[in-house]
Amino acid sequence: MTATGGGVVVARWLEALLALARTGRDRSESETLVAVADTVRSVLGYGSVAVNVYRPAWHDYEVVLVIGDAEAKAALMHTTNDYGVLHDQLLLPQFERLPGVYFLTAGDAVWDDMEHTYTPAPGPGDWLPDDGLVVALRSSTGEPLGLLSVDQPASGCRPTDAELQMLVAVSAHGALALDTARLNRAAARHRDALMALAAFSAQLGTHTADAAVLDRVRAVVTEAFGFGSVTAYLRREEWLAPVTADAAPIPLRAVVAALDRSDPPAEAGCPVVVGRAWSAPAPAPAPAPAPETVRGRPGPRAWHEDRLLVPLCGRGGSLLGLLVLDDPDDGLLPDPQTVRELRLLADQAAAALTVVQNRSELDHQAHHDVLTGLRNRRDLEVLLDELTRRVDGVAVLLCDLDHFKAVNDRFGHAVGDRVLERVGSLLREQARDGDIAVRYGGEEFCLLLPATDDAGARVAAERLRAATPTYLADIVDGQTMSVGVAAVGVVGGGGEALLRGADAALYAAKRAGRDCCFAARGADRPERVVRRPVPT
Ligand code: GH3
Ligand code: MG
Ligand code: MG
Repeated sequence: MTATGGGVVVARWLEALLALARTGRDRSESETLVAVADTVRSVLGYGSVAVNVYRPAWHDYEVVLVIGDAEAKAALMHTTNDYGVLHDQLLLPQFERLPGVYFLTAGDAVWDDMEHTYTPAPGPGDWLPDDGLVVALRSSTGEPLGLLSVDQPASGCRPTDAELQMLVAVSAHGALALDTARLNRAAARHRDALMALAAFSAQLGTHTADAAVLDRVRAVVTEAFGFGSVTAYLRREEWLAPVTADAAPIPLRAVVAALDRSDPPAEAGCPVVVGRAWSAPAPAPAPAPAPETVRGRPGPRAWHEDRLLVPLCGRGGSLLGLLVLDDPDDGLLPDPQTVRELRLLADQAAAALTVVQNRSELDHQAHHDVLTGLRNRRDLEVLLDELTRRVDGVAVLLCDLDHFKAVNDRFGHAVGDRVLERVGSLLREQARDGDIAVRYGGEEFCLLLPATDDAGARVAAERLRAATPTYLADIVDGQTMSVGVAAVGVVGGGGEALLRGADAALYAAKRAGRDCCFAARGADRPERVVRRPVPT
């Protein structure tokens, strides 16, 4: 380089550097990289410039941009080079001409170990075909971001220190672009996660079913947190049952053991843990791994056989459910902020589950009888109205224990209660699928029989009446029951007509001497149900 020529280059270089700095902020990552590579080519005069980007999951560099001839592009584009091989065998202190700038000469013979290199045809001057210039691009915190690899100087000369300094200054823009893009990506991800969290928490109280809560959580984790596989489980006694059909239930103890073994250790409250030792049954036969997966990602924070277990904990830390996350789109273990966001989501999901469960518990309490566990008469008419609308032929049996007051009087209320409990069991046993047993009040019970005509209801009533004394014999002797029958086909109408008909029939049974069944007959008086011999 002559003094005059050098001056011109420096002036052009300064101009290019200023242009890069001026427009840098408005450019995307790829636009900046193209501008940097183009400046290196046109101003610093290198025929071939390759930009390599560091991939943390793979702990390697991938060539994402090649400026040069078609042969160089074909040879280098999308090839990767292992971080360890590059840094341990090639980018060594003895080749470092300036901080982060490595000049590799033909005599070093280190290129031989590289998987993907391109050696251009020999040029004139003293830049030898195997010479190479590599600039390591690092983040402000020193993490690897990429490499700029340049070749084929137009001057045909090996670089001077001044030229290297120019290269360093231009490369700094490339590093900045990569670093900014990386930080922007992370910030966008966290922003999306927080937005999704806010949207989720705004709907906390609106869910009516626990499966719906977990469906929503699955969608949030997939969309905003980038996990390809999210399986949600709900606690069912000693099991965690999957919400979707494509997974198998997991015994609770297996989850507890995995949480105990977690690495890093589970924190108090609602922990999120990386379960390297996760050994829950695989949901389905795993698909054949892609070749890249077989090789395994070698990056220090790479996701291997890991699962992220996100327990959903309720009051007192009890497990309400579990999320099992796999297949993160960046191929990396989650950073601490992601873990915190997932914990927040898990806490909110657990709160939503608690709301749903409390609501259904209250609803259950409001509609069920404590002593027998049967439905109580609340909303019974509405229920019957609905049934008669949906189903053809509904019948009602209204049952009343005979002289039950005497049981209390003779044996006390505790024994009376045991008898009532037993009657509850008897009704449950006699009920077919779809029948609804109700404690109507005191010693009166009701059995709703959908899809049953008058004849069928009479048979059911007689069977129930006949079974009663035997069923209760271990508590009291000779306890009988009277039953009133009403069927839509006979009394017509909905709940009110059915209950009124059954009540009139029951009254008739009592008047006829008890321990018998009477059936309503519309405007006519109820009629006695013929007793049939009990099959032995
Ligand atoms: P009838 O044959 O006419 O039906 O005579 P009954 O004695 O069964 O009818 P009555 O209506 O005179 O008495 C009902 C009794 O049921 C009185 C009440 O103490 C008893 N009973 C109602 N609810 C309960 C309960 O929850 N537990 C107990 N132990 N007894 C109850
Ligand atoms: Mg009564
Ligand atoms: Mg009674």
